[in-house]
Amino acid sequence: MGYSTEVLTRARDALAQRRADRESELAARHSRAYSQVPRLREIDMLLRQSAAKAAQAVFLQGGDAQAAMEAVKQENLQLQAERKDLVAANFEPQWLEDNRCPHCGDTGYVGSTMCQCLQQLCALEQRKVLSAIFGGSESFETFRLDYYSDRMDPKFRVVPRVVMEKTLNYCRDYARHFAKAQGNLLLTGTTGLGKTHLALAMGRAIGEQGYSVCYESAAGLFGKLEKAKFYPSQESQAEARALETCDLLIIDDLGTEMPGQFVTAALYALLNQRLMAGKAMIITTNLNVEEAGQRYSPQIASRLYGEFYRLTFLGEDIRALKRRMY
Ligand SMILES: [Zn+2]
Repeated sequence: MGYSTEVLTRARDALAQRRADRESELAARHSRAYSQVPRLREIDMLLRQSAAKAAQAVFLQGGDAQAAMEAVKQENLQLQAERKDLVAANFEPQWLEDNRCPHCGDTGYVGSTMCQCLQQLCALEQRKVLSAIFGGSESFETFRLDYYSDRMDPKFRVVPRVVMEKTLNYCRDYARHFAKAQGNLLLTGTTGLGKTHLALAMGRAIGEQGYSVCYESAAGLFGKLEKAKFYPSQESQAEARALETCDLLIIDDLGTEMPGQFVTAALYALLNQRLMAGKAMIITTNLNVEEAGQRYSPQIASRLYGEFYRLTFLGEDIRALKRRMY
């Protein structure tokens, strides 16, 4: 799963914080335990010395090294048993245990693989980032079908509410089955018909499953790509890389950015890269096929309409409707 650098950095910081907290808490418990049961301090000191004692024993005893080692081992076992009894008699079980992650020792990695503890922290930080992006009220539950007319649209010969109910269900299923099937969606239709609302709802639901999701307005997206290309820095390039590799990229309002050669080239490269890697995209736009072809290039239009499942939004401008209703 391709978490963004931001999420990964935050998760690593959280793990480091957890490690520091655990260590200082354990130290505090030890000092309390030592003052309560002084014999514990002696035992811990003796146990720490036993490795050195073992080496020393081997050196001093020369030929009878094995017997000396055995003596140290026995003493060690006795001390450990005594310590265990003392702890059991005076404290809660596990009270003095070092409860670091048993898999990675709180380093976050087992070899070169990310440990499950760090993965969980990534998912948690991802949720926080998502709620910062998708902090609004856009969810499937808040999508209101009653804003769409239940009368036949004379131009399209369909009932908008019926169409939009299908669209809502389609989007919900898309999010629900994202793990199994990740297609690309193109949400088209004029302004104010709820395209952004459903794109955000899908982004939130998919992000909550632990996938990395990037959401950008078209203007924001091209701004970031431009910065990475013309003002390369570690940060700008990490941002561009997240846009290229995240599990789901949502581009909102394609066609509202300032047009230009850079935009066309960057869009074409990004679409191809993600299509080839099989990474999902959701794009909302007011453009239709011809307009996209004119604005960008016929190649981009053919990608958009050949590789994306199109959902057409119908109805009246919801913002205008809301103004009338309240
Ligand atoms: Zn771990």
